Amino acid sequence: MAYAYDTNNIFAKILRGEIPCNKLLETEHSLAFHDIRPQAPHHVLVIPKGPYVTFDHFALEASDAEKADFLTAIGNVCKALGVQPGEGGAGYRAISNAGNDGVQEVPHLHVHILGGRVLGRMLERAE
Ligand code: 5GP
Repeated sequence: MAYAYDTNNIFAKILRGEIPCNKLLETEHSLAFHDIRPQAPHHVLVIPKGPYVTFDHFALEASDAEKADFLTAIGNVCKALGVQPGEGGAGYRAISNAGNDGVQEVPHLHVHILGGRVLGRMLERAE
């Protein structure tokens, strides 16, 4: 089944300028802004401007220009936050939740960049 993009999701509204965000950086195809409910001292969301629902949707259907722009934006967010381990930063975690099992709240692709503290285990243990 093909993805159906909900043009009324909250990140679509942010991209249209209908609701504000605390922007960190913007490029031709991507936007990065601080999460409204941060779960770590650094918590930035990086989104493509195109109508992609999940990481796999973007990976399989976005243009090469969109993909290059998005990856570069993620790298520049890490740089702006000073978390790059290769540059003396303390590290970070990049997460993209997808669908029901991934517990995705907003149906527009976003990569969370989290850092500023030791982030603990990647996943909770299953009950
Ligand atoms: P998900 O669970 O879909 O991976 O993450 C969605 C993220 O979007 C959550 O961390 C949530 O705090 C964030 N979020 C939801 N609504 C808004 C909003 O209006 N502005 C910002 N900046 N972040 C939001």
